Amino acid sequence: MGLSDLYLVDPKLFPHERAGWRAASAGDVLENATVVDTFEEAIADCGLVVGTSARGRRIPWPLVNPRACAEQVYPELDKHPVALVFGREDRGLTNDELQRCNLHVNIPASEDYSSLNLGMAVQVITYELRMRHLQGSLSDNPMQEWDTKFAKVDDIERFFIHLEETLIDMNFLKPEAPKQLMTRLRRLFSRTRMDDLEVKMLRGILTSAQQWVGRGSKKEP
Ligand code: SAH
Repeated sequence: MGLSDLYLVDPKLFPHERAGWRAASAGDVLENATVVDTFEEAIADCGLVVGTSARGRRIPWPLVNPRACAEQVYPELDKHPVALVFGREDRGLTNDELQRCNLHVNIPASEDYSSLNLGMAVQVITYELRMRHLQGSLSDNPMQEWDTKFAKVDDIERFFIHLEETLIDMNFLKPEAPKQLMTRLRRLFSRTRMDDLEVKMLRGILTSAQQWVGRGSKKEP
């Protein structure tokens, strides 16, 4: 997620080959980790310290969700170092550690069981920071890259006329009792955005069908 400064407070085993395997291609983050003896050392030069916790604390502390955390943290990153503090896999952060944080962040997992694995909690919180970093540069449009131009209204209208004509040729559509058939087909095709090639293919299929029933014409309808 683009973060690089890892501080490890009094690790039980470091370096350790298991950590190396788990880091996989992010081995550089682990190799460059700063090992300190105490939590105080780790956060000494930080201007904002954010603690993570799976459960509510007895004394309420300013508390945000991961998205709001990213919103608050991101603008401060170029002002001073910001610490995101994660706890021990088995028992999290102590009350004393949490009380040294300016802000707490909680991932709102199910109330029945809200404690995530450490690695997953790190992922969720750093992902939100990443998304905040990319804000404005990511498109929300799933169709932004398409290999063919979207069909124009005129071409789609010609397709509908051709479709209707073919359905009549095939005796599927009775002009004297059309019901809602064309409206429903129009709704079906309008739900998708057909591109030029798709309209061309469908027109080709219709022409074939018309030839098949023996009365088709290849002319433009
Ligand atoms: N029993 C511990 C759970 C530790 S989970 C406790 O209740 O605190 C290990 C670490 O993962 C936590 O210290 C915290 O840093 C992070 N974590 C796990 N679940 C989380 C959640 N729902 N919200 C925020 N951080 C979480």
